[in-house]
Amino acid sequence: MSQMFVRVALDHPLPTLFDYRCETEAVPQPGMLVSVPFGKRMVVGLVCEVAAHSEVPEDRLRSVDNLCTACPPLSAQWLELAAFAADYYQRGLGEVALPALPQALRDASRWTRLLAPEERYRLLPAGRDALPDALPARASALRRLADELVSAGCLSAADARALHPKAVATLDAWREKGWVQLEVIEAAAVSIPVPTTASTEETEATGATPPVGTHATKSATTTIATESPMAAAQSTLDTQSPNASIDAVQASGALPVLTDEQSAAVSAIHDAHGFAAYLLHGVTGSGKTEVYLRALAALLAVDPTAQALVLVPEINLTPQFEAAFRARFAALDEGAIVTLHSGLAEGERARNWFAAHTGRARIVLGTRLAVLASLPRLAIICVDEEHDPAYKQQEGLRYSARDLAIWRAKQLGIPVVLGSATPSLESWWQADQGRYKRLTLARRAVADATLPAVKLIDLEDERRRGRASTEGLSGPLIAALKARLERGEQSLVFLNRRGYAPQLACDACGWVAGCPRCSAYVVLHKPERALRCHHCGWESRIPRACPECGNVDIAPLGRGTQRVEETLATVVPGARVLRIDADSTRRKGSAQALFSDVHAGEVDILVGTQMVAKGHDFRRVSLVGVLNADMALFSHDFRAGERLFAQLMQVSGRAGRAGLPGEVLVQTRYPRHALYHALARHDYIGFANATLAERRDAHLPPFVYQAMLRAEGRTLEAALAFLQQAAEALHEIPAAERVTVYDAVPLTIVKVMHVHRAQLLIESASRAALQATLRAWQSMLRTLKGVLRWSIEVDPLDI
Ligand code: ADP
Ligand code: ZN
Ligand code: ZN
Repeated sequence: MSQMFVRVALDHPLPTLFDYRCETEAVPQPGMLVSVPFGKRMVVGLVCEVAAHSEVPEDRLRSVDNLCTACPPLSAQWLELAAFAADYYQRGLGEVALPALPQALRDASRWTRLLAPEERYRLLPAGRDALPDALPARASALRRLADELVSAGCLSAADARALHPKAVATLDAWREKGWVQLEVIEAAAVSIPVPTTASTEETEATGATPPVGTHATKSATTTIATESPMAAAQSTLDTQSPNASIDAVQASGALPVLTDEQSAAVSAIHDAHGFAAYLLHGVTGSGKTEVYLRALAALLAVDPTAQALVLVPEINLTPQFEAAFRARFAALDEGAIVTLHSGLAEGERARNWFAAHTGRARIVLGTRLAVLASLPRLAIICVDEEHDPAYKQQEGLRYSARDLAIWRAKQLGIPVVLGSATPSLESWWQADQGRYKRLTLARRAVADATLPAVKLIDLEDERRRGRASTEGLSGPLIAALKARLERGEQSLVFLNRRGYAPQLACDACGWVAGCPRCSAYVVLHKPERALRCHHCGWESRIPRACPECGNVDIAPLGRGTQRVEETLATVVPGARVLRIDADSTRRKGSAQALFSDVHAGEVDILVGTQMVAKGHDFRRVSLVGVLNADMALFSHDFRAGERLFAQLMQVSGRAGRAGLPGEVLVQTRYPRHALYHALARHDYIGFANATLAERRDAHLPPFVYQAMLRAEGRTLEAALAFLQQAAEALHEIPAAERVTVYDAVPLTIVKVMHVHRAQLLIESASRAALQATLRAWQSMLRTLKGVLRWSIEVDPLDI
């Protein structure tokens, strides 16, 4: 029998593939998972190539332990995507590919269970009546189980076990009582759909083996093709307007009549042939979601096995989107719409990933990590709020999900829609260049809804006139809040700082509470009665007196959301105040409950951080108050202005969405600042053009390309010395002639968890020169010593 060898990518920083002998019963294919010995451990890797020979000497070759046949192989296109991301972001292929897979696949001991039927307990009406009241008050584990079951309606045996080791025994007991029923779902209903013609060409061009479904049984997608009303729409699509043809695929109920602007956008996307990037520039409330819905419907109608990927920046926005998509695509079968984000339980995430991988999921809604999902029939990508910094992963593989989405669309020859009221300047510039097609929604979609009036409250002027603020809330803002309360309308107060106060200080000696592990002050959290470091999580009790001088009059300095919440309760008597920030939503599912309270009108004033600023369609908010925005005006980061402007436009956009006239009050000491003027005129375009002109003059992105080398050392000197050596090494790289090197500098927060951090920025007007430099630099950096860690970030967002 002839020998077989596989070349395997492992989650390891070395950018090489590892050869193994393969003597398994099943035939290896590229894209399959294998378990292989590595050092003293067994690890899971990804087969990238299958070969008849290996260069590695016979005595050093080890053998594959196990080949995963439960999961159909990842496609050549997906491997290509991972390889591109690895190359672009300067990582090993395995470092990109393996973390992108669900945990269950990366654990070989769980492979067999992937094929096992899934057992699911579904809550019955009797159970809904009885739980959780029938449980003993102190049985907290049982209560958690009941809570999960009541909120989700059903629970897999695996997820139940994850909650509590004996949960399944409990569920079986509940089954005896008629509270739940057991459902068994055959996982074998999976198949990899046949690649489209376009993708077959693609795979041939790269010389890789096309994927073959190893466990093809009855194809779920074929069923949809024959039974779905979408098939009926197919024939009418080319002859009718997008409105008419799409109506045919949507379940029932009246669809909103598209505005002219929405219609034009949907038609443009529908007319795309092959790759096309659309920048959907739509003011807040202009109905961008409706454009995604129609664009998807049109595509899914043409191709009954097509898949769509919709990215949102925040986990908290997925329920709102999921509800809209489920309502609209009610004609699709139950598993056809799935979500992918880090808030899902492991089992659910694996199932949803699998549904995407096998083609059963037609629409995948997710946060940035979903851009790396396996989607063999992907036909359109939408990136909502494309400017949002949350699309950039800030640890490990520091990728931009938006940028990868564009690359993926190009690879597959499909449309990608980037939506935003305040596009990133990178995308705006691409549209200026004609590389992206601009689609504009200049008006709000709901009849009578206009953009809110933005007014600046000059805090200096207020002070000069002797009109005092109360705890940071100016007179005009308090009056406006009271007026809304009287009219029964909602208000939103936005402050991008959580906690009670950013500092706790002693007036007598100048002491300020700091973190023992970081070079940072600790934040006072009043309800939790704690001082907390927002950088490392260190926590301590609030001291009664100054630890330096014994003064008992230590006082909080500055304001966070908790303090504003407290103040509002006293200055607007009778108002129901709700705070939404990372602290108030720590418990899983709690954010959803809080947002529901707002939508249900059970809240008069909502206080929050950027969590409340994004995307939410609050129908009754007519006033937005903005506190402490000035902080970001004078940052050393050249993107701070762009970010602040986007954030303020976003939060302003929460006001007046459903016909109530909206008002935005921005408290500032700099009412003449150009940024606020553009904001008051809702003038994104003016702001973008002016800022781009400044960037061009200053040779900043998007006119140059940047990369950042970060080093972490036991001392700052060690980190800086490493970067100094690294900078010198650049002289030996020919491509670096076209690269500018800046001085190594400490990070703003130098020390986190006792580790000192510094960074070195390099940039070039040539993307190719920068990439070539980074590639050569990597191998030189590996030989340098003296630091704990170093990493390269391409296209850094935080400078
Ligand atoms: P955006 O994401 O652009 O801020 P949304 O997609 O949240 O805006 O839409 C704002 C509101 O307008 C939503 O309540 C939506 O239901 C509504 N809407 C969208 N399109 C239309 C339309 N054509 N007619 C009436 N209402 C619409
Ligand atoms: Zn003191
Ligand atoms: Zn700390």
